Amino acid sequence: MDLCEFSPDYVRAIAPYQPGKPISEVARELGLDEAKIVKLASNENPLGLSPRARAAIEREIAELGRYPDGNAFELKAALSARYRVAPERIVVGNGSNDLLEMVASAFLAPGRAAVYSRHAFAVYPLAIQARGARSIVAPAREYGHDLEAMAAAITPETRVVFVANPNNPTGTFAPGEAIERFLARVPPAVVVVLDEAYNEYLPVAARYDSVRWLDAHANLVVVRTFSKIYGLAGLRVGFGLMHAGVADLLNRVRQPFNVNNLALAAARAALEDREFIERSFQTNAAGMRQLEDGLRRLGLAFIASFGNFICVRFEPDARGPSAGRVFEGLLQRGVIVRPLGGYEMPDHLRVTVGTREENALFLDALAAVLARR
Ligand SMILES: *Cc1c(COP(=O)(O)O)cnc(C)c1O
Repeated sequence: MDLCEFSPDYVRAIAPYQPGKPISEVARELGLDEAKIVKLASNENPLGLSPRARAAIEREIAELGRYPDGNAFELKAALSARYRVAPERIVVGNGSNDLLEMVASAFLAPGRAAVYSRHAFAVYPLAIQARGARSIVAPAREYGHDLEAMAAAITPETRVVFVANPNNPTGTFAPGEAIERFLARVPPAVVVVLDEAYNEYLPVAARYDSVRWLDAHANLVVVRTFSKIYGLAGLRVGFGLMHAGVADLLNRVRQPFNVNNLALAAARAALEDREFIERSFQTNAAGMRQLEDGLRRLGLAFIASFGNFICVRFEPDARGPSAGRVFEGLLQRGVIVRPLGGYEMPDHLRVTVGTREENALFLDALAAVLARR
């Protein structure tokens, strides 16, 4: 008897998420010094964490013998004040990934379906499939979300639509007006998850206020994270803003103590650390220009990005090496980037914007890999 055969087919068919290679693993495999490795593979904040968050963590260590506040009272109060949304409309998660899973748990099941775009964030199909629901993949337009196609893809079985704005891994962005038009088109019985993990990186001219739409759209769930600009990826904390009834549902499927003491304290401090957020924003903006300039000098095409990462194209049939060869070549030189075969983008590599020095090391390594062939 094989016990595993008793797991539902849809669970056994899940293809596990492929994370960016950890520094320690690359160091072990290639015999490199960890300190010399540059990891630009997981869209982490190259400045690390906010100093205020670090101080909050140190203070909170003394409390680790106790369970965290399962209702995240203080973090919700801070978020409530920041976004002018009542605390009962906020759900806090173990990373924003947790919010995506909670929405799937609350609304998806066998016989139901969820829509997302081709080349969208890989967690959506995982969350859908784990509930035995069907994935409907809408075609992309120039690697970005085609919101018209996504609305048209909604079937009577569809209960959730996932929209990543900006999207990871492509960095593409749909302007606020386009999202508003989309919301007007989606039936009210379909939950729209607006995943805004990179929202804080948007250039001023592109910013829009999705939180304002919550009043008119009871089916909207706005998801944000502390993993990106706030620099707390390792602590796992994110949140969702939504209708109180939807929040109540998510709280039923949420693990009672899903966000730990350190994460709650750090997130609260990070939210108030304006100086760190501004420095992270400026570092990213300057780094993005540096990478774009460097890539242009190397004659490489890339997808214009609104996030803290950029997708570079390596034409397989031109004179240059394939994306796979470039990935391996960079790894040999201690630079970790992200291959995108799993996103049906085998000719692209995704590179996270690092510090000025890290970006320069990446561009030098890339030039060397291209020259060697
Ligand atoms: C990084 C990312 C997240 C955030 O994940 P966490 O679980 O909060 O670390 C969510 N959505 C997208 C599109 C992302 O790129």
